[in-house]
Amino acid sequence: MTERFTGSFTQQEPIPEEGIMAALTVLRHGRLHRYNTAPGEIAETALLEEEFAAQMGAKYCLAVASGGYAMTTALRACGVKAGDPVLTNAFTLAPVPGAIASLGAVPVYVGVTEGLVIDLDDLATKAGQAKVLLLSHMRGHIADMDRLMAICDAAGISVIEDCAHTMGANWRGIPSGRFGRFGCYSTQTYKHVNSGEGGFLISDDAEGMARAIILSGSYMLYERHRAGPPPETFAKIKYETPNVSGRMDNLRAAILRPQLRLLSEQAGKWNARYRVVEAGLRDTPGLRLVDRPEGEGFVASSFQFLLLDWSEDKVREVVARCAARGVELKWFGAPEPVAFTSRYDSWRYAPHAPMPATDRVLAGILDMRLPLTFSLDDCALIARIIRAEVSVVWQAAAAVK
Ligand SMILES: *Cc1c(COP(=O)(O)O)cnc(C)c1O
Repeated sequence: MTERFTGSFTQQEPIPEEGIMAALTVLRHGRLHRYNTAPGEIAETALLEEEFAAQMGAKYCLAVASGGYAMTTALRACGVKAGDPVLTNAFTLAPVPGAIASLGAVPVYVGVTEGLVIDLDDLATKAGQAKVLLLSHMRGHIADMDRLMAICDAAGISVIEDCAHTMGANWRGIPSGRFGRFGCYSTQTYKHVNSGEGGFLISDDAEGMARAIILSGSYMLYERHRAGPPPETFAKIKYETPNVSGRMDNLRAAILRPQLRLLSEQAGKWNARYRVVEAGLRDTPGLRLVDRPEGEGFVASSFQFLLLDWSEDKVREVVARCAARGVELKWFGAPEPVAFTSRYDSWRYAPHAPMPATDRVLAGILDMRLPLTFSLDDCALIARIIRAEVSVVWQAAAAVK
C-alpha cells in the first residue's frame, strides 16, 4: 500500500483561548486604535511592545502593521534614500528586496552558501559597496553572526536584521535581531506568532527608534510608548521625520500578547518536528541535508533540503511525485516563479550581476512548511514519502547513466 499524507501545509494552530478572550474585550470596548485609550488605561499595543522588548532584551520596541513595514521603516530610520545601494541576500523572499525598492534604493545581492546562509566571503568582497545591509535570516538559517558583524563593523555598515523566520531563535545565546541596529519581525499568519498581519522593530538606538516611531504615525503622542526612547530624543527629529502610517492596533496586540508568552514552548515543538523529518531523510542517496551549526539556536517552522546538481526535470519529477502523495514541496530554485519568489533574478525591477555559485545552490533548494498542526507521526510519514520518491527518481537517473 502506498502511504499518502492528507494534512494541510498551510493550516496553523488556532489563536490561544486567552488571546480570543482579550480580543473580545477590545472589540467590546471599541478602542482599537493604539492611541485611543480611556483615562488611566494602557493600550494593548503599548503593553505588547514593552513585553516584546523585555523578551528580546532590547531597549526599544515598536509594533507595526507588517514585517515589510518594519523593514522599510528601519531602512528609512537608517537614512537610506532613493538611489542608495543596500546589501541584501540573493536567497530571500520578495518582501526583502521589495522593502529596498520601495524607497527607490537599489539591492546589491550577496550570495548564498550550501548552508543556506549569506555567503560571508562574498559579503566581505562587496562590503565597500553600501552603508546598510538588510540581512535576511531566510528560512531560519543563521550565518556566523560574529564574523558577519566583524565584517560590517569594519566597513561601517549598519545591519538591519530580517527576523521573519527567526523570532525566538539565537546565535550563541544572543537573540536573533539583537546583533544589528534594528531587528525586524513579522507576525503574519505563517510566521512564529499569528495576528494575520503585523510586525515589530526592536533596537537599542534611541534616535533611530524615535525616527521609527514618528515614521509609523505616532503624531505627537510618542510619550505613550512605554518601550520608546525618552521624550528629549524626539525634540529635533519630530520636525524632520515624515509620517508614513503603519501602526499596529489593539486588536492584534491583544491576540499576540499570550502568543509571545508561549514562544519558547512553541519553538520546542517546531524543532521536535524538524528533527523527526531530518532523521527520516538522513543518508537518502542524492539528497543533501542542511548543516545546522553549533552556535545556531534555530526555530524550525519550515524544512529545507538540497537536490544539488540535479537536472531541472528530475527535480520537477520529485516535486510532482511527492505532491501526488500529499506532500507539498516548494522548489525555491524554479526558473519561473510560481506562487512565491525567492531568487534574486526573479526581481526584474532591480539590477543583478550573474552569481553562478549561488545559482547552483538556489537551483537545488526544496522547502516545506512544518505547521504545529502536524504531529510527530505526520512528520515521520512526510519524511518516508520524500525519501521514497527521491530514491525512485535518483535510482532511475543512475540506471540511465
Ligand atoms: C514574511 C516575510 C517578511 C515580511 O513579512 P510581512 O509581514 O508579510 O510583510 C520578510 N521577510 C521574509 C523572509 C518573510 O518571509
